Amino acid sequence: MQRIGIMGGTFDPIHYGHLVTAEQARFTFGLDRVVFVPTGRPPHKQEKDVSEAEHRLTMTRLATQSNVHFGVSSIEVDRPGPTYAIDTVREFKQLYPPGTDLLFITGADAVLQMTGWKDYDVLMQLCEFVAATRPGYVLEHERIAQMFGPNASKINFFEVPALAISSTDIRARVRSGRPVRYLLPDVVIDYIFASKLYTCSR
Ligand code: NAP
Repeated sequence: MQRIGIMGGTFDPIHYGHLVTAEQARFTFGLDRVVFVPTGRPPHKQEKDVSEAEHRLTMTRLATQSNVHFGVSSIEVDRPGPTYAIDTVREFKQLYPPGTDLLFITGADAVLQMTGWKDYDVLMQLCEFVAATRPGYVLEHERIAQMFGPNASKINFFEVPALAISSTDIRARVRSGRPVRYLLPDVVIDYIFASKLYTCSR
């Protein structure tokens, strides 16, 4: 039976922290494939706070093209209206044979907001979660148990040292002319400068 990772994120821009998270999750959770799914219009963010979906999608494709186990899906970008994880997971259920295990991989901060997500209860029945944490992140086990109840066992927290890199920091570096080399793939850096992304505050 196949096991598929759905790597959800804004990826504005994608960086080595994301790529290491996906590769480490693939190994740790025995995934056959990790599909990166850049968000369309995130329900919790103002449109002006996020780069155009087409740019984020292209950067994600460029960054992942050298890994045969990685893929990129545009389903959230193509879907009109706000992006909800439940819609994405339901579409993945249709795409893969019955019995395929789905693991939704994303940042721990996002996962800890999940009780407020659309159809949260159904979502928890359809897949497991991998919640990536940055170094130094303190897991509040009691709070997590209180928030999620029996669903807490479906959330796999794991620390990714490379997540010391953050998209917010990269955007600020580009804006202020500080170096970004070695934080994300060169091909993505070239795209950022060619497309004049992050050059002025939005
Ligand atoms: P976010 O609030 O921008 O990110 C939260 C934190 O997680 C940030 O520190 C971020 O670091 C990190 N992060 C994000 N994606 C990651 C990934 N794939 N691997 C490792 N770290 C990651 O969260 P977001 O990107 O908007 O949303 C994350 C996912 O949750 C998306 O798939 C989104 O669709 C889903 N979501 C769904 C709902 C809903 O269904 N109602 C609501 C909110 C979010 P960087 O900034 O460095 O990436």
